[in-house]
Amino acid sequence: MTTAITDINTIWSLVLDIVRDELNTPSFKTWFEHTAPVELTDDGVFVVGVQNEFARNWLEERYSQRLSSALKQVVGVELAVRILVDQNSSQEEEADEDQRVEEPVVQQAPSAPDKKNTRHEFDPKYTFDSFVVGESNDFARNVALAVAEQPGLKYNPLFLWGGPGLGKTHLLQAIGIYVTQNFPHKKVIYVTSEQFTNDYVDSITAKSHDSFRQKYRSVDVLLIDDIQFLENKQSIQEQFFNTFNELKHRGKAVVLASDRRPQDINMEERYRSRFASGLQADIQPPTYETRLAILKQFVETQNIPFEDAALAYVAERSTPNIREMEGAVIRIIAYRELSKKQIVDLPMVEQVTKDIFLDRSHRPIPITSIQREVCRYYSISHAELIGSKRSQSIVYPRQVAMYLARELTDMSLPKIGNEFGGRDHTTVMHAFAKIQKLMSQRDVYNQIQQITSSIRQKA
Ligand code: ADP
Ligand code: MG
Repeated sequence: MTTAITDINTIWSLVLDIVRDELNTPSFKTWFEHTAPVELTDDGVFVVGVQNEFARNWLEERYSQRLSSALKQVVGVELAVRILVDQNSSQEEEADEDQRVEEPVVQQAPSAPDKKNTRHEFDPKYTFDSFVVGESNDFARNVALAVAEQPGLKYNPLFLWGGPGLGKTHLLQAIGIYVTQNFPHKKVIYVTSEQFTNDYVDSITAKSHDSFRQKYRSVDVLLIDDIQFLENKQSIQEQFFNTFNELKHRGKAVVLASDRRPQDINMEERYRSRFASGLQADIQPPTYETRLAILKQFVETQNIPFEDAALAYVAERSTPNIREMEGAVIRIIAYRELSKKQIVDLPMVEQVTKDIFLDRSHRPIPITSIQREVCRYYSISHAELIGSKRSQSIVYPRQVAMYLARELTDMSLPKIGNEFGGRDHTTVMHAFAKIQKLMSQRDVYNQIQQITSSIRQKA
């Protein structure tokens, strides 16, 4: 059961999803990033604009087959593809021509997870400026800033801990952004402990242990997120411990984040006490006032007018998990667009959130029940959901399930990727952004609301 999609932008972005999955990143970036749909003619020609003659020839020669078959998967019927030079899709006129001439290499195993991709781009949203301070988090925020201002000199290691969705990742990334901006020569790495683990495992299988050491021991600031995942992983703990000792010894900064205190992480005592040897700062659940301030900022950056009473309602009902609170607001915003109302008022918020805030006790939702409901809703099997099939009737439900996993559980992106057949965290990120965008279509919005409601009711 797929949605009937008629909007060319949506069609094209779904086609790109399929192609992206099949190509390596540089090829995709070079050839597809600056394409744009132009029109779907009455006689069944899908017209795509590219930025220059060169790109047009290349796409026609190399990729027209691939594009036709991806299009067919999306719309269900055979369409002709025409590619033309369209100034509007030109964003990179000055780009290096040499790079474009490079032969695109097709991955041998397109669905294999790309574990090497550990360089996590910082999310520009996560700065100190955008971090709303309240009594629940001001200590953690201030010490994080102190580390960013003088990396390695203060509070080394800094250990941040607190429940899910309270801002740990935000603070780690804020440190990373601050340091890269103010000390451009310093090398900063942000990884989750799972990515660190993957890197290590890869270096063993590829017998490139030196490059692993080289990478992690040459940094000035190492930011490691979600270190609770190192629990019960002896050899990784040891590896991490060695890296840590060397960095600490050379006066390099290490910042760790975890969803619980060091004492409550199950690992060898000598490691644990070492990680706890610097400063520990906890983040507590935000008060109503802080939640409201965060919400205000969030809707202001999105430029959406909310009535005060509507914001207060969300701040009041929401769980302390800010990710969930933002998830609720994203749905409200999508609903507003559909209903074509100017301002978000209280009745609208009550209507949209009646299922979201249903479960006040806030029991964690297992990812298995999200997957089960999504499979049921779209009539696909669990094996298909987590498998490697890339037909649109599977890709779309898979993206919906990833979206819901991100919104409704406390799992990190790599962990979610794992639960979907070992996909990379960037795939999950992409799915999230994708569905969030698609939610401004009524049918997609309704599907997400219905699935959430059945997940909540069965939780
Ligand atoms: P954690 O890593 O603790 O699970 P995140 O850092 O991912 O939580 O935060 C979840 C969401 O809430 C992010 O979008 C983040 O920007 C937002 N958030 C958390 N705390 C704050 C804050 N104090 N001010 C603004 N946004 C916040
Ligand atoms: Mg986090």
